Amino acid sequence: MKCTICGSPAVISLKRNGNYLCLDHFISYFEAKVEETVLSGGMIAEKERIAVAVSGGKDSTALLFCLYRILSGREVELVAITVDEGIAGYRDDTIQAAKAIARQLGVKQHMVSFREEYGSSLDRMVLGKRVAPCTYCGVFRKHALNRAARTLGADKIATGHNLDDEAQTVMMNYLKGDLERLMRLRPRRAQKGLVPRIKPLRMMPEKEIALYCMVNGIFFQSRECPYASLSLRAEVRDMMNSLESQFPGTKLSTVQGFESLDQRMKGDWAQMDLAACRKCGDPCVGERCKACQLLEEIK
Ligand code: SF4
Ligand SMILES: [Zn+2]
Ligand SMILES: [Zn+2]
Repeated sequence: MKCTICGSPAVISLKRNGNYLCLDHFISYFEAKVEETVLSGGMIAEKERIAVAVSGGKDSTALLFCLYRILSGREVELVAITVDEGIAGYRDDTIQAAKAIARQLGVKQHMVSFREEYGSSLDRMVLGKRVAPCTYCGVFRKHALNRAARTLGADKIATGHNLDDEAQTVMMNYLKGDLERLMRLRPRRAQKGLVPRIKPLRMMPEKEIALYCMVNGIFFQSRECPYASLSLRAEVRDMMNSLESQFPGTKLSTVQGFESLDQRMKGDWAQMDLAACRKCGDPCVGERCKACQLLEEIK
């Protein structure tokens, strides 16, 4: 296979447009797509400080690397935040990878851990309980990231969610019939105390992200989180992968379908106002935020 643009040996065939691309043209294509997402979504403005959530997995590693490249020459500051949830046999390796990529790029890194923030690792929180570890993990990680980003004076939090994640999230909310949560994927306005989130990789398929990491020499093969298979997301991921292989383009059309729904709902779907959590002061629906509620349950 030859690159459609220059005739050099190709490293990938792009399903979305049928093009074959060589290594250099793939990197240019990838970074141009991410830049387009960032620009068209008005995600990053000049003089902003962007907190990048870097777990050390391939998505967040690609995110930091790609943002560093496409923002070079602009007055935008990147700072990495790494959250250690405390998952034995999984998180330690990825934390080392997160430290390595931040060091390589000269980006300041801020570490946060569940142990310090909440007094217990995720492993201990869920030990012997019939609970979904991903619920605890997701709620506390979001809470910790928001607090860290606020402390660092960040204007936005960038996360490494990719096209596969977005398609899964849309499908999960359809399956649960949770329109409120679905519409939260595209917040209408900023909420006091909540650092706005951006997802520059949201239109990039997981496979292209893995290749981007490989060709840039930043790929780190991590094990899967031991709790991943217990979640609904894992079932939906398998279902979406199976559909994608039978009907290529399913993930993209799932996300595009949601985008179109979101456009049509503009104005009709009012975003609810958040109050301050009585315990920690973070923005939340109701009197106490989800993190404080879960902490109470653990006790
Ligand atoms: S799979 Fe679940 S428990 Fe593991 S890191 Fe992801 S959200 Fe956390
Ligand atoms: Zn080429
Ligand atoms: Zn709270």
